[in-house]
Amino acid sequence: SQSELDYPFKLLEYFNGFRISKAIFSACELGVFDLLLQSQKPMSAVEVAQKLGTSEDGVERLLDVLVAIEIVDVEVVQGTAFYSSTDVANQYLAKTSPKSLHDLIIYNSQTIYPLWNNLVDAVREGKNQNEKTFGLPSEEIFSAIYRSEEEMLKFMGLMNSTWVIDGHDIVTAFDLSNFKTVIDLGGCSGALARELAKEYPSSTVTVLDLPAVVQTAQRHFAQQDDTICFQEGDFFEGEIPPADLYILARIIHDWKEDKNLKLLKKIHAACPPGGGVLIAEALLFENRRGPTMVQMFSLNMLVQTEGKEHPPSHYTHLLTDAGFRDVQVCRTGKSYDAILALK
Ligand code: SAM
Repeated sequence: SQSELDYPFKLLEYFNGFRISKAIFSACELGVFDLLLQSQKPMSAVEVAQKLGTSEDGVERLLDVLVAIEIVDVEVVQGTAFYSSTDVANQYLAKTSPKSLHDLIIYNSQTIYPLWNNLVDAVREGKNQNEKTFGLPSEEIFSAIYRSEEEMLKFMGLMNSTWVIDGHDIVTAFDLSNFKTVIDLGGCSGALARELAKEYPSSTVTVLDLPAVVQTAQRHFAQQDDTICFQEGDFFEGEIPPADLYILARIIHDWKEDKNLKLLKKIHAACPPGGGVLIAEALLFENRRGPTMVQMFSLNMLVQTEGKEHPPSHYTHLLTDAGFRDVQVCRTGKSYDAILALK
């Protein structure tokens, strides 16, 4: 627009985007939001620095940035600034909140950010940057993602935190009450499966994932009176156990086209007539004009995996090619959308 030509407000804001991300990530890693939540009263930068073991100057500048982007509040009393948390920070940035996005932030800061440092090479080569970034072979995407126990935990934390805020919309996008046995293929920590079990208490919900992932899920993400079961397996190499409904949440976007078709055909063969498959992914618009976040996810898939994000028509073709029918698409308006198809 003309005003952008007169002065590039929007461009300059975009250039600054990485600084904003890093300021929030760093505050999370330092424990700023946890401290402000626990504190009964507003804190000066000196107090925050003492509690967190940081420099006063550094933490004061960081807090001021967080104030400017409206994540922290400030009041100046007789020349001293006193900082306090906001409701948004308490709910989403503090580690202890039930809706905490802390794990999502840690993964973005420590794993995604270094990968995006090699975005130029990813675009040039058209492949992921696991080798350059972490010294791991680019074909084995989950060997790279799970390169250590710590990384596996971090990744599972990332996956888990999404469904705390988006899971309910996915499991209620369609009425799934007729599906009595459900298997979440590649269900990771079990967060989406738990949402499903909560919404449909008469259904039996099982998470199938790689053995090491299932073991870590049971050790670190199990809940008292857990409503779901776990099963170790491999959806490419092993058998797909029988079920009325299969969930594929953020699975298709990891892999190349031929692997996805093979997987869906295998699911179709295991599925009884009237059974179905529920896909949860972030959907692109057919006209290629967004959503920005999903286009960003797709670029992220380039940098980290062998897959990409797609518009609904792609999933409809894929599901139809695999033998499914009655494909229904539900855009939730949040980060992730749902697609249901029947056999
Ligand atoms: N569905 C989960 C979610 O949306 O939060 C996790 C998605 S994550 C991008 C992909 C999942 O697929 C991981 O949990 C991974 O361990 C699992 N996975 C990868 N290869 C697999 C295989 N061959 N068999 C079973 N699970 C696999």
